[in-house]
Amino acid sequence: MAGLSPLDHVVVVGAGLAGWRTCEELRRHGFAGRLTLIGDEPYAPYDRPPLSKQVMSGKWTPEHTTLATPEKLAAADVELIVGAGATHLDVEGMKVTLSDGRVVEGTHVVIATGARARRLPLHRDVLYEVRTRDDVTRLTARLSALVSGDVVAVIGAGFIGAEVATALAIRGLRPIVLEAAPRPLAGVLGEEVSRWLQGLPADAGVELRAGQKIVAVDAVGDEGDADVVFEDGSRLSARAVVVGVGAQPNVEWLGDSGLVLDNGVVVDQYQQCRPRVAAVGDVANFAWFGGEHVRIEHWQVASDHAAALARYWMTGEESAPLVPYFWSDQYGQKIQVLGHPRRDDDVRRVKDTGAGQWLGLYSRRGLVTGLVALNQPRALMLSKGLLTTPTTLDDTLALNPWTVPSSA
Ligand code: FAD
Repeated sequence: MAGLSPLDHVVVVGAGLAGWRTCEELRRHGFAGRLTLIGDEPYAPYDRPPLSKQVMSGKWTPEHTTLATPEKLAAADVELIVGAGATHLDVEGMKVTLSDGRVVEGTHVVIATGARARRLPLHRDVLYEVRTRDDVTRLTARLSALVSGDVVAVIGAGFIGAEVATALAIRGLRPIVLEAAPRPLAGVLGEEVSRWLQGLPADAGVELRAGQKIVAVDAVGDEGDADVVFEDGSRLSARAVVVGVGAQPNVEWLGDSGLVLDNGVVVDQYQQCRPRVAAVGDVANFAWFGGEHVRIEHWQVASDHAAALARYWMTGEESAPLVPYFWSDQYGQKIQVLGHPRRDDDVRRVKDTGAGQWLGLYSRRGLVTGLVALNQPRALMLSKGLLTTPTTLDDTLALNPWTVPSSA
């Protein structure tokens, strides 16, 4: 792959983190051609993690999350189109059709359309989601009308649900978290680690009800109050109902593009779906460690994809395999995940201070696959090398990398 020339025009679809980082990284590598960034939201690229943390808890305004300030956009010489979604991609002609009828033609296209909140087949208008700036603005407007101790139901005890519940508690409200599974996060981190984490909500004074079968959410009046209705006919009255039940990739606009769509856009080790067309971030289904295809909704992965693609398009060089990293601030604790642990991996607790700080090591068929840390950021990062190259469990346990002092 030869480097892009100043005559090239890169069209990036999706003005979120991955799209914006792609623009920044291309410029950092010296790309001198045209860059167009297209987003369907009415905002310049902004950061999502603070939405469920600082913005929800009232510490930041939504504007605080802006990544691409006017100064940064000007410095990166990016033509930003907002409020117009892409509806069609012609990969032969490198043409992107927008919802307002415009057609943007380039020499290269980057698909960075991310994911959207998964929806439940329940009463829609009365539910609140937490994926976009507008979602959080709508939700916080409702929350400001509530008083201390008011009940807010949170459907889903995954990462977003837990962060939302934490923020609600910080605001003085009474979150009640409703989870369908017997324990939170078992579907993501496995039974064992889910058990290790199950005490967090109660320790923080947040009520978690597991094993809940919700059949409906009924609006009560027209101000946002609602009843959550359970399978046994019982009801929970809430002043607001927030849903956090995962996300799904935004690929519908690519339906007739001819690209391979399978849980996102399938890409090769250079993030490409075909020459001059690439996908990055939450929407990309990529081969991790050169093997298993995964789609990972992590902030760091989106940034790493963008950096790897820009480097490949500008220099032809492949980047080192990325190590997925994720963090979540919930119930006053920090959970961090490295690698790609799966729920059916073997897991053992390899470090435990006994004070709510531990490190879990995941492996599959004798090879390390990931680490999960509760309030152990340093031990986690000391272990990162385990995931940059295939490492056996036996070697790891002999090495104990998490105990190496910083000066070593
Ligand atoms: P997105 O951020 O989804 O951006 C894609 C953009 O493309 C969106 O603006 C979308 O509207 C737009 N778009 C979609 N379709 C079209 C179209 N057809 N045409 C034009 N534009 C389109 N990760 C962590 O690692 N740690 C955290 O603590 C964490 N917290 C989070 C908290 C919240 C509330 C959320 C929602 C996410 C969190 N994440 C976290 C995940 C992280 O934010 C995502 O991995 C990251 O935003 C992915 O960036 P992206 O650009 O790939 O996708």
